Amino acid sequence: MSDRDPGGISRRRLLGSAAALAGAALAPGLFLVQAHPDGGADAGARWGLLVDTNRCRRDCRACVDACREENGWPAADNAGGDIHWIRKVDLQPAEADGPGHSAPVMCQHCAEPPCVSVCPTRASFRRADGIVLVDKHRCIGCRYCMVACPFHARAFVHAPVDERSPNHPRGKGTVESCTLCVHRIDRGEAPACVARCAEAGHAALVFGDLNDPDSEIRHALRERSAEALRPDLALDAGVRYHGLS
Ligand code: SF4
Ligand code: SF4
Repeated sequence: MSDRDPGGISRRRLLGSAAALAGAALAPGLFLVQAHPDGGADAGARWGLLVDTNRCRRDCRACVDACREENGWPAADNAGGDIHWIRKVDLQPAEADGPGHSAPVMCQHCAEPPCVSVCPTRASFRRADGIVLVDKHRCIGCRYCMVACPFHARAFVHAPVDERSPNHPRGKGTVESCTLCVHRIDRGEAPACVARCAEAGHAALVFGDLNDPDSEIRHALRERSAEALRPDLALDAGVRYHGLS
């Protein structure tokens, strides 16, 4: 029997994460990994995503809806602004009469992240396992990172918002972006978008540890060629796309 869950995290790692969390509760509902986002990081891992644009359907928004529900984005017309972490993009076919493709675009979890380089307060940071996050307590809302990100992956919260999620507390005047569902990864689960895409029957998203040669994503990358968005920028993205060319 395989020791992998559908999202590609080995049971060995899942059990390790669960053990690390045992006893980490600071108070009911508040865990150390939430207070200190680097606390759950596995320094031996590099979490990544493979987006298969041949399997992603143009009329499907399952990943966007899952992300919104999981991370509590407010409706697009709320006072805080259009806070979205993931968006669907239609890709132009290489051939004029080609079928065209569709793909979700979110934070690419760059190994050389410009958002981290420009942040004056070190609010933008990269965890030991490759996940790029914003520490809300340090963010002063200067938005340098939004300008620096070539993928327009970050959103700014302009005003107080009623919608909140225990998975992702948010506050006026701070920047946020895809966390790869770090709260789920630290419990040994795949990101919500990956799970929902599989439930929808498309399986266009493969998640896993890019450093583990036995992971589902590494197996998929051996079978399917993949490239980063804007490879010319040499950001070493953790998100790779199959079927772009
Ligand atoms: Fe930073 Fe943008 Fe790269 Fe994400 S995609 S790590 S926000 S530069
Ligand atoms: Fe850093 Fe926040 Fe400024 Fe972005 S908006 S560069 S996270 S302080």
